[in-house]
Amino acid sequence: MRVRTFTGGGFGENAYLAVSAAGPAVVIDPGADAPRIADAIEAEGLDVSAVLLTHAHIDHVDGLGHIRRILPEVPIWIHPDAIGMYRAAPQQAARFGFELGDLPEPTDHFVPGDSFAFGDCTFEVRFTPGHAPGHVTLFEPKAQVAFVGDVVFHGSIGRTDLPGGDMQTLMKSIREEILTLPDDTVLYSGHGPPTTVGAERVGNPFLIPHYGGELA
Ligand SMILES: [Zn+2]
Ligand SMILES: [Zn+2]
Repeated sequence: MRVRTFTGGGFGENAYLAVSAAGPAVVIDPGADAPRIADAIEAEGLDVSAVLLTHAHIDHVDGLGHIRRILPEVPIWIHPDAIGMYRAAPQQAARFGFELGDLPEPTDHFVPGDSFAFGDCTFEVRFTPGHAPGHVTLFEPKAQVAFVGDVVFHGSIGRTDLPGGDMQTLMKSIREEILTLPDDTVLYSGHGPPTTVGAERVGNPFLIPHYGGELA
């Protein structure tokens, strides 16, 4: 799997283009840098199987319109628990002073424990709420890559003060769905640089006992 990162907007959100060796690709969390994602899709002539949303915070969905403009039929996957926030995203954006316009209707629902295949890649869908309702993590075991949205970052964890957030729930998600992955697994987060499970297990102040990380 080849991964391209597109970072943009005031939130510095990372969107990803994951391209299977066999050709088909997916877009994950298209944010403010969506015009560049659209350019890359067109320049490489990529066959995009779907847009996959880890959760529905505005910075992770505000590029959907751009992607749909070049790929009007592309399926949009989201967890059902994230739909409420997805529908509220335009109002949420207005509160931050920018206009999101109408978001396209999601077409498919993630079911935790199910998988999502594209080309020769298969994501395990892992349910990781706590930062936002209906947050999922997408793990590809062969490539040892996981797209973790805003669950965990290099040296940090997702905030839990936003609507539907809960610290205990987030820690349970990290403990059961992230720290159970192989140490070599590369974690691509919604913000900041990539990291690995092993690096976070020993170096993330929120996850190591020395700093009270026994919460995880
Ligand atoms: Zn978020
Ligand atoms: Zn985010």
